Amino acid sequence: MSLDSRRAVSDLQELRALTADDHGAQRIAWSPMWLKARAWFQTKLQGLPIEHHYDAAGNSWTTLHGDSDRILILGSHLDSVPNGGWLDGALGVLASLAVLRGIAEEFNGKPPITIRLVDWADEEGARFGRSLFGSSAFAGTHTIEADRSRTDRDGVCLEDALKQCGINVDRIGESAIERGKAGAYLELHIEQGPVLESMQLPLGVVLGTKGVERHAITFHGQEAHSGSTPMAVRRDALAAAAKLALEIRPIARKHPDSVATMGSVKTFPGIVTAVVGRCETTLDMRDLDATVLASMLAEARAASERFAAEERCTVEWSKIWNIEPIPFDPQLIEFCDEAIRETAGTSHRLPSGPLHDAAEVSRAGIPTVMMFTQSLAGLSHNKAEDTKIEHLELAVQAFDRLARKTMTWLSEKEKAV
Ligand SMILES: [Zn+2]
Repeated sequence: MSLDSRRAVSDLQELRALTADDHGAQRIAWSPMWLKARAWFQTKLQGLPIEHHYDAAGNSWTTLHGDSDRILILGSHLDSVPNGGWLDGALGVLASLAVLRGIAEEFNGKPPITIRLVDWADEEGARFGRSLFGSSAFAGTHTIEADRSRTDRDGVCLEDALKQCGINVDRIGESAIERGKAGAYLELHIEQGPVLESMQLPLGVVLGTKGVERHAITFHGQEAHSGSTPMAVRRDALAAAAKLALEIRPIARKHPDSVATMGSVKTFPGIVTAVVGRCETTLDMRDLDATVLASMLAEARAASERFAAEERCTVEWSKIWNIEPIPFDPQLIEFCDEAIRETAGTSHRLPSGPLHDAAEVSRAGIPTVMMFTQSLAGLSHNKAEDTKIEHLELAVQAFDRLARKTMTWLSEKEKAV
């Protein structure tokens, strides 16, 4: 076996030592620390029979050419949120590197199909608020016009920050050329949630990423003096919003994997001596099934109107953002399930609540699957983010098996053509 799963873990530890401070990982995309992480990654490629380049959107591509130009892509992202964890994204990149190294060695630098490792640019969107930057450019779903004028907290605009990293925002769509003859995309990631740990399982197969409906909901009532206004005549916008905040819980609980969150509430005038005249809230709902998601949204909307009427208020909705559910490839889900069972004995299938670059790759029509490994206490985007070392090694081994199965599948398909 040419796979060295221990080396993937020591690479992760090395990257952490290089790019984290007392508060956690600081590999924010388009920052000097991120560039440092990427330069470090390139030193890890020395001696490998590969070609490396950055594409028009800043994605990093490492290519091991095979007998065929049919491509298997492996990858994730090296960027982190500020004060982030050591594994989010980095695990997938360095596990992919271990797999690529093993395949290069076993096939004397020339596997049956081409293997490519991608480190997507700016998965997190931590600085400019635009997640999945590089993968959406690759997928052709990114319209730069909506993002061109974004600024970071220091007022630096996205266009200028990217220019400093050698990216011309008008040309990011040229990243699509990297799709080539891509036959499959595989991504290993930490779960970032508590499900696998609660089942005492190291690994799981990801069925797809949940669709998201994100809306701003504003209740309008009447500002009034808190001392002189009798309870019976109040039009309290917060009361209506509060009823909705409780009602979304039973709405989501009707379905096993649905989630619904009201994450922000602002009251106006927002003082201790006034009945709330206006209450601005946000709602985020997610499910893997588009029909379920649509019905949850309709129920939440109906409930908001009912509660507004009960409190003699009005309610208005405006969409912040949405994305459809993205189910992964059925054949690759089977391979991933097999790889996990062969490595760890038991597998489990679960949807992903967070979005990932894999969702964008799947939207580009490339068969895709993700594998999750357990997150301790379900924590991520936090310096406490962690996974047991033995689980990390198992994850690398299972991911290698998945890559081998997919490689065989693609080369057989290629022969059949
Ligand atoms: Zn991630």
